[in-house]
Amino acid sequence: MKVTEHLQNADKTLFSFEILPPVKGTSIQSIYEGIDPLMEFKPPFINVTYHREEYVFKERENGLLEKITIRKRPGTVGICSAIMNKYHVDAVPHIICGGFSKEETENALMDLNFLGIDNVLLLRGDAVKTEPGFRPHKDGHAHASDLIQQVVQLNHGHYLDEEMENPVPTDFCIGVAGYPEKHVEAPNLATDLKYLKHKIDLGAEYIITQMFFDNEKFCDFVKACRAVGIKVPIIPGLKPLTTKSQLNVLPRYFNIDLPEDLVNAVEAAKTPAEVKQVGIEWTIQQCKELVEFGVPCLHFYTMSKSEATAAVARAIF
Ligand code: FAD
Repeated sequence: MKVTEHLQNADKTLFSFEILPPVKGTSIQSIYEGIDPLMEFKPPFINVTYHREEYVFKERENGLLEKITIRKRPGTVGICSAIMNKYHVDAVPHIICGGFSKEETENALMDLNFLGIDNVLLLRGDAVKTEPGFRPHKDGHAHASDLIQQVVQLNHGHYLDEEMENPVPTDFCIGVAGYPEKHVEAPNLATDLKYLKHKIDLGAEYIITQMFFDNEKFCDFVKACRAVGIKVPIIPGLKPLTTKSQLNVLPRYFNIDLPEDLVNAVEAAKTPAEVKQVGIEWTIQQCKELVEFGVPCLHFYTMSKSEATAAVARAIF
């Protein structure tokens, strides 16, 4: 079932979450261990991230450095299928532009279609760490909007090979990312919203936001979206803060601000358990206010660790 149908059919706020494929070489059991404790909150869908190649440099015996390309977290398509079989909930694979040609993307989409997966979250992906900015694959896409157009084309039965006889159209429901604190590369929020609206106009049907810790920023973002004519559901992305080090890691990695009250409370916590409790209580309060605000779903970034998300969900659902 499509995410939009789940949202339309719901008579209360839904609970959903995102997991990462395990690092290459790890068993799928680690994925199940992250999902099992969250199933009692009845997620109608589970998102699975997609990861591009990364470059590592290995020193050879002659002292020269060799650039090696690896994908540390492959397996998104297989994990989505395993989730659907084991838990009978919809899996939402993320599909990214970075590192993939249009043909590789089409092949992945066909696999997803054959597996009965109805949803995709379409993203550009970040730049490779060793590169100064995002560089698209030479036969790939530069923006999520280009990827949306490919999926919309496929939904109309237009494959890359135009010679195909009687091609069968896919029917993917398309979600995209939005940034309450604006995307790091956008010159300002208005420009970012212009491109977000472009993604919706092209065929995206709902938005999941970057994580945020200040609800006012989310509510202002929703109002700004509505003001520029974005009418689709906007799902807030949430993450309970769990360690002191995240005070620096989260802003750096996700380009977000942490509210002063939260930072002060985390800094005052004396033990790791106390820090975790501060993070959980903060997110519970966020969730209560967001439900009041009327969000259709609360979406959690679990990073494949379920304990803190389960503690929040227990207080809300
Ligand atoms: P885009 O929509 O392409 O936007 C990127 C920048 O370009 C923005 O500044 C925007 O304003 C601008 N822009 C957009 N369209 C155009 C256009 N047509 N012309 C000119 N400028 C434009 N990353 C992963 O690698 N794997 C994942 O699984 C993953 N999942 C994510 C899930 C969520 C909910 C979120 C919020 C992020 C996720 N990311 C993931 C990170 C994401 O890939 C990065 O934030 C990336 O830098 C931007 O992706 P985007 O889809 O928002 O890009």
